[in-house]
Amino acid sequence: MRITALAGGIGAARFLRGLLAELAARGAGADIGAGHEITVIGNTGDDITLFGLRVCPDLDTVMYTLGGGIHEEQGWGRDGETFAVKAELAAYGVEPQWFGLGDRDFATHIVRSQMLDLGYPLSQVTQALCARWQPGVRLIPMSNDPVETHVVVDDEQGRRAVHFQEWWVRMHAATPALSIVAIGAEDAKPAPGVLEAMAEADIVLFPPSNPVVSIGTILAVPGIRDAVAATMAPVVGVSPIIGGAPVRGMADACLSAIGVETSAAAVAEMYAGLLDGWLVDLSDAADAAMTRAADAAATGPVVRALPLLMSDLAATRAIAAAALDLADELRTDR
Ligand code: GDP
Ligand code: CA
Repeated sequence: MRITALAGGIGAARFLRGLLAELAARGAGADIGAGHEITVIGNTGDDITLFGLRVCPDLDTVMYTLGGGIHEEQGWGRDGETFAVKAELAAYGVEPQWFGLGDRDFATHIVRSQMLDLGYPLSQVTQALCARWQPGVRLIPMSNDPVETHVVVDDEQGRRAVHFQEWWVRMHAATPALSIVAIGAEDAKPAPGVLEAMAEADIVLFPPSNPVVSIGTILAVPGIRDAVAATMAPVVGVSPIIGGAPVRGMADACLSAIGVETSAAAVAEMYAGLLDGWLVDLSDAADAAMTRAADAAATGPVVRALPLLMSDLAATRAIAAAALDLADELRTDR
């Protein structure tokens, strides 16, 4: 079974951990490598260069989470982290000070930057980093070409574009985004293996990731959206919106910026033409059913409702199981 998933950071990483646990429990995947091949296409629009180092927050969140090195409560960064380097940089007055890079995490960015400087593409660098973490999936960046999400804001400092990380981390997305632009996406090429993973997949999954700056950015790389639309595999998505709210984080601020309502149904509409199946939370069941009923051509995805809060591994496994079951059902339907 070849499973291909798109991935942002925390939402995707947690879901994928549940997926691996579920596959392992199903037996065929007792040795995941033997029974299943999971390819994860990671968002790189959040990437940023800090202190001369290339930081890839979403790739690292997936890698650390699946590799057992994540800071559990935080959901990003390393466990057992210390911040001596950050404090020393601050003592020199070096900016920015709003991005929390820990000492352990720094090592990852140093290795990555060294390899990039030597000319290795990001996909090979990611593979090298994963050789240590053994995430149990093949993690590929969406593109080897730099893509950076920027956000246009207008506040007391005037109208300007800031890096997504500055808007998200420093400004807590409190200043409304006038627009969100994935700079470089138009000219980016999918990384080697991305289109193949989509074409050759038996199942394609959209984990509950930010639909604008995670999944949306991956789909903005020319060729990827078409590959998802064209794949023979059933495409099943998990709503990142529960009861009209983004659960954790500030995804609603991203949706507002592009004029999309914060609802499971509205996110499904963003993925129109791509999704065959859509998992929504029980609290959104009526809403999502309405969308399907309203779709005269009945070409919308098959909607299933279940609890979607990834409160612990068991709950997350149940969500992954539902996604696999729905995909299976949709496959046999063909
Ligand atoms: P990020 O890059 O770290 O922001 O992570 P992602 O883009 O992968 O996912 C962030 C999104 O995950 C958030 O916008 C939430 O809507 C969603 N999310 C977080 N926790 C949960 C959860 O327990 N259940 C569901 N369904 N979605 C969640
Ligand atoms: Ca992210």
